[in-house]
Amino acid sequence: RGVTSAESSALERAAEAALRPRRLAEFVGQQVVREQLSLVLDAAAARGRAPEHMLLSGPPGLGKTTLAMIIAAELNAPLRITSGPAVQHAGDLAAILSSLEEGEVLFIDEIHRLARPAEEMLYMAMEDFRVDVVVGKGVGATSIPLELPPFTAVGATTRAGLLPSPLRDRFGFTGHLDYYRPAELETVITRSAARLEVEIDAEAAAEIAGRCRGTPRIANRLLRRVRDWSQVRGSGRIDLEAAHAALAVYEVDERGLDRLDRAVLRALCERFAGGPVGLGTLAVAVGEETETVETMVEPFLVREGLISRTPRGRIATPATWAHVGLAAPSPGAG
Ligand code: ADP
Repeated sequence: RGVTSAESSALERAAEAALRPRRLAEFVGQQVVREQLSLVLDAAAARGRAPEHMLLSGPPGLGKTTLAMIIAAELNAPLRITSGPAVQHAGDLAAILSSLEEGEVLFIDEIHRLARPAEEMLYMAMEDFRVDVVVGKGVGATSIPLELPPFTAVGATTRAGLLPSPLRDRFGFTGHLDYYRPAELETVITRSAARLEVEIDAEAAAEIAGRCRGTPRIANRLLRRVRDWSQVRGSGRIDLEAAHAALAVYEVDERGLDRLDRAVLRALCERFAGGPVGLGTLAVAVGEETETVETMVEPFLVREGLISRTPRGRIATPATWAHVGLAAPSPGAG
């Protein structure tokens, strides 16, 4: 698995946490969402009430968790963190909900992966600040309504379209995060370098910014790898040479694609003659989970015009063939 699409390990999460902005004012880019959020937060503060539930959507690594933490910090409210896959039973969710403090921010990452019964309990809790706790089994089971203190749910999803509409409708605000612009990523990188106490040249920051697939998480990850190189092989200062050399070592190409991205493009061209091919089939061909390819790999490739989605499946574009270094088959051939 490539360095840029690697799942976070505990160490990686710790390294990330150290670079997380803590306040809205430090959060780089995403101007529209930032502005909207700051209005929601200021209005809630003025009314002295918990703000409405908020949904954050967008590809991984763009700052959804960071924003949830910032929301709690700006509200001066406690934060509880959970995720869709972690809440397998409605009872798990009931336990969390019934222990919330007044005004607490409940962050639910990957909310589209909540199990159905938990999901239904959640939207009742969001709407009425109430849950029905079922006690006993079978015909003797009774459900006891339990009042909840007002809280703010912040959901994060890579796929807003997958949320059932009753759940989506309970969010008073939906912020969509999009890939960052190079100048914004340069700012992220420069600030992270300062936090890591390593000097960096502007050209080196620009080089990393251009190769991190529009994603701050990847920018920070590449920055750490380039720092390794400069400390072990270079002058200790991050210059363009260090950036080029380290990115070559980690097989990040000039468009920021890593080994897995390229494997997907190669499979599409070489094994499936440019498609159309289903995403699941493509994932099997590169030995990855469908979900990994779908959330971590495909969105950026689509945005770059390196994969095209059609109703019949994924197809290669002229840019795909060029990137893989193969001639596109001429129409009608074979
Ligand atoms: P997500 O929850 O969307 O997958 P995270 O919030 O975990 O993404 O962000 C990943 C990392 O990227 C964070 O640890 C943080 O260091 C960095 N990051 C994300 N967004 C920003 C931003 N707007 N400004 C600065 N750093 C950011």
